[in-house]
Amino acid sequence: MATPKKKTLTTAQLEKLKLALLDRRHEIQRLSLESLGNAEESIDEASGDSADRAAASLDRDILVDAAAREAKELHGIDEALAKIDAGTYGACEECGNLIAMPRLQYIPNAKYCITCQERLEELGLLDDNREDFTITE
Ligand SMILES: [Zn+2]
Repeated sequence: MATPKKKTLTTAQLEKLKLALLDRRHEIQRLSLESLGNAEESIDEASGDSADRAAASLDRDILVDAAAREAKELHGIDEALAKIDAGTYGACEECGNLIAMPRLQYIPNAKYCITCQERLEELGLLDDNREDFTITE
């Protein structure tokens, strides 16, 4: 990682982003509990004919995908929270420059500045092509 520029986030900005991360964390946990409940329901209902069973297994696939995405996002959020505690939050993991505040407000668990993000995407080096990483500024 290159030497970071001196600019850092203010304590107030960090607090705000930390709250956003914690909120998002709660939201994901709530959603995954909900989809778990739905999955159990659809499995119960699937004791009928084979079409129902096929539909239920499709639902399960979707839920497994969603759970994997949620787990990944939670991991990213935990990493971001750990970085806030360590005082390294906000620095791009690629170039070390401070990630722009509007970007952090939009994606508090962003790892890269917009320049690096776009470059890495172009090079196909990001496995994470989630839509919410596309930012319109
Ligand atoms: Zn960067």
